Amino acid sequence: MTLAIDWIWLLLALPVAFGLGWFFSRLDVWHWKMESRHQPRAYFKGLNYLLSGQQDAAIDSFIEAVQNDPDTSELHFTLGNLFRRRGEYDRAVRVHEHLLARADLSQADRQRAQFALAQDYAKAGLLDRAEAAIKGTNLVLAELQSKEAQQLLLSIYERGRDWAGAALMAEHLEASGAGNYTKRRAHYLCEQQLFEVAIALSPTSPRAYMELARKHADAGDFAASNDLLALAARHAPQALPLLASQLLASAKTDEQQQAAIQTLAAAYQDTHSLGVLEALIGVGWMDARTAYVAHLTKEPSLIAASHLIESPQLVEVQAALQKATEPLKRYRCAACGFEAKQYFWQCPGCQAWDSYPFKRVEEL
Ligand SMILES: [Zn+2]
Repeated sequence: MTLAIDWIWLLLALPVAFGLGWFFSRLDVWHWKMESRHQPRAYFKGLNYLLSGQQDAAIDSFIEAVQNDPDTSELHFTLGNLFRRRGEYDRAVRVHEHLLARADLSQADRQRAQFALAQDYAKAGLLDRAEAAIKGTNLVLAELQSKEAQQLLLSIYERGRDWAGAALMAEHLEASGAGNYTKRRAHYLCEQQLFEVAIALSPTSPRAYMELARKHADAGDFAASNDLLALAARHAPQALPLLASQLLASAKTDEQQQAAIQTLAAAYQDTHSLGVLEALIGVGWMDARTAYVAHLTKEPSLIAASHLIESPQLVEVQAALQKATEPLKRYRCAACGFEAKQYFWQCPGCQAWDSYPFKRVEEL
């Protein structure tokens, strides 16, 4: 009996549920139609312009839209960031400046727009304006964004070669837990020729030893130069392929030379670094031919092979191999892939610090 009643209820409930579903779906469509009727025409006009490639006309329409409707500010942030990413900085600046000119913009959005404007200027290379824009934001920004702002300010100082400003900002970032900036701060000190301070700050960074040693060698003080490079070899052994020939050149006494050769020979046994081997061959530590044959049994190196066939009968083969090995002798940024003959402490491609391995492309 109860079973039969349940069935009747179910049969009655089905059309009711169907009817309700239809009613709500109509309500949805009606609601959507009402909403789109309220969307400003300028917004659609802007979209049309954008789709037909008329970007300036599109921006004008979007600016009109944002003046009529405060809710479209999000669209402008998106548009501004899009322009900045495409390298169209003047357009990005226009979008963000118009946002800032609005009286009804919320405080949070104003900060965001100010920060976006600073990024536009920084990317466009207008560092003074970027700095001015970002200093306007620092006060009220939320914790995360203010860290972002400090990072942007840091890169602005770096690009403007304001090393004292960069160091101050790096200290701020470090204090707020944004990571370790010690090695970077040591580079800032090197840029200011404050090598001793840099060594005290970051004893495992090779740059300050090397640059100060070069300065002493240029002034004829090879003893000081050799001491520094010996320290570098001890504290930053990873950089030996880069500083091997400098270390040997600074060793003027027999004792210094023996010590240098001993250090480098041990490093070569460990790492098979061609940079170290080339420096050792340069001072006659080993016959070049024997050394490169031995090296080839350890590493399949085209650079070693090209050294090996240096003979008068094979001049053309040697020249061809030489040409083929040129790209293998470059240093390559691990962050962006930028390659260069010269070693860089800061990548000219992506501005990253210490992003070049000490070994050359063939040995990576
Ligand atoms: Zn790079």
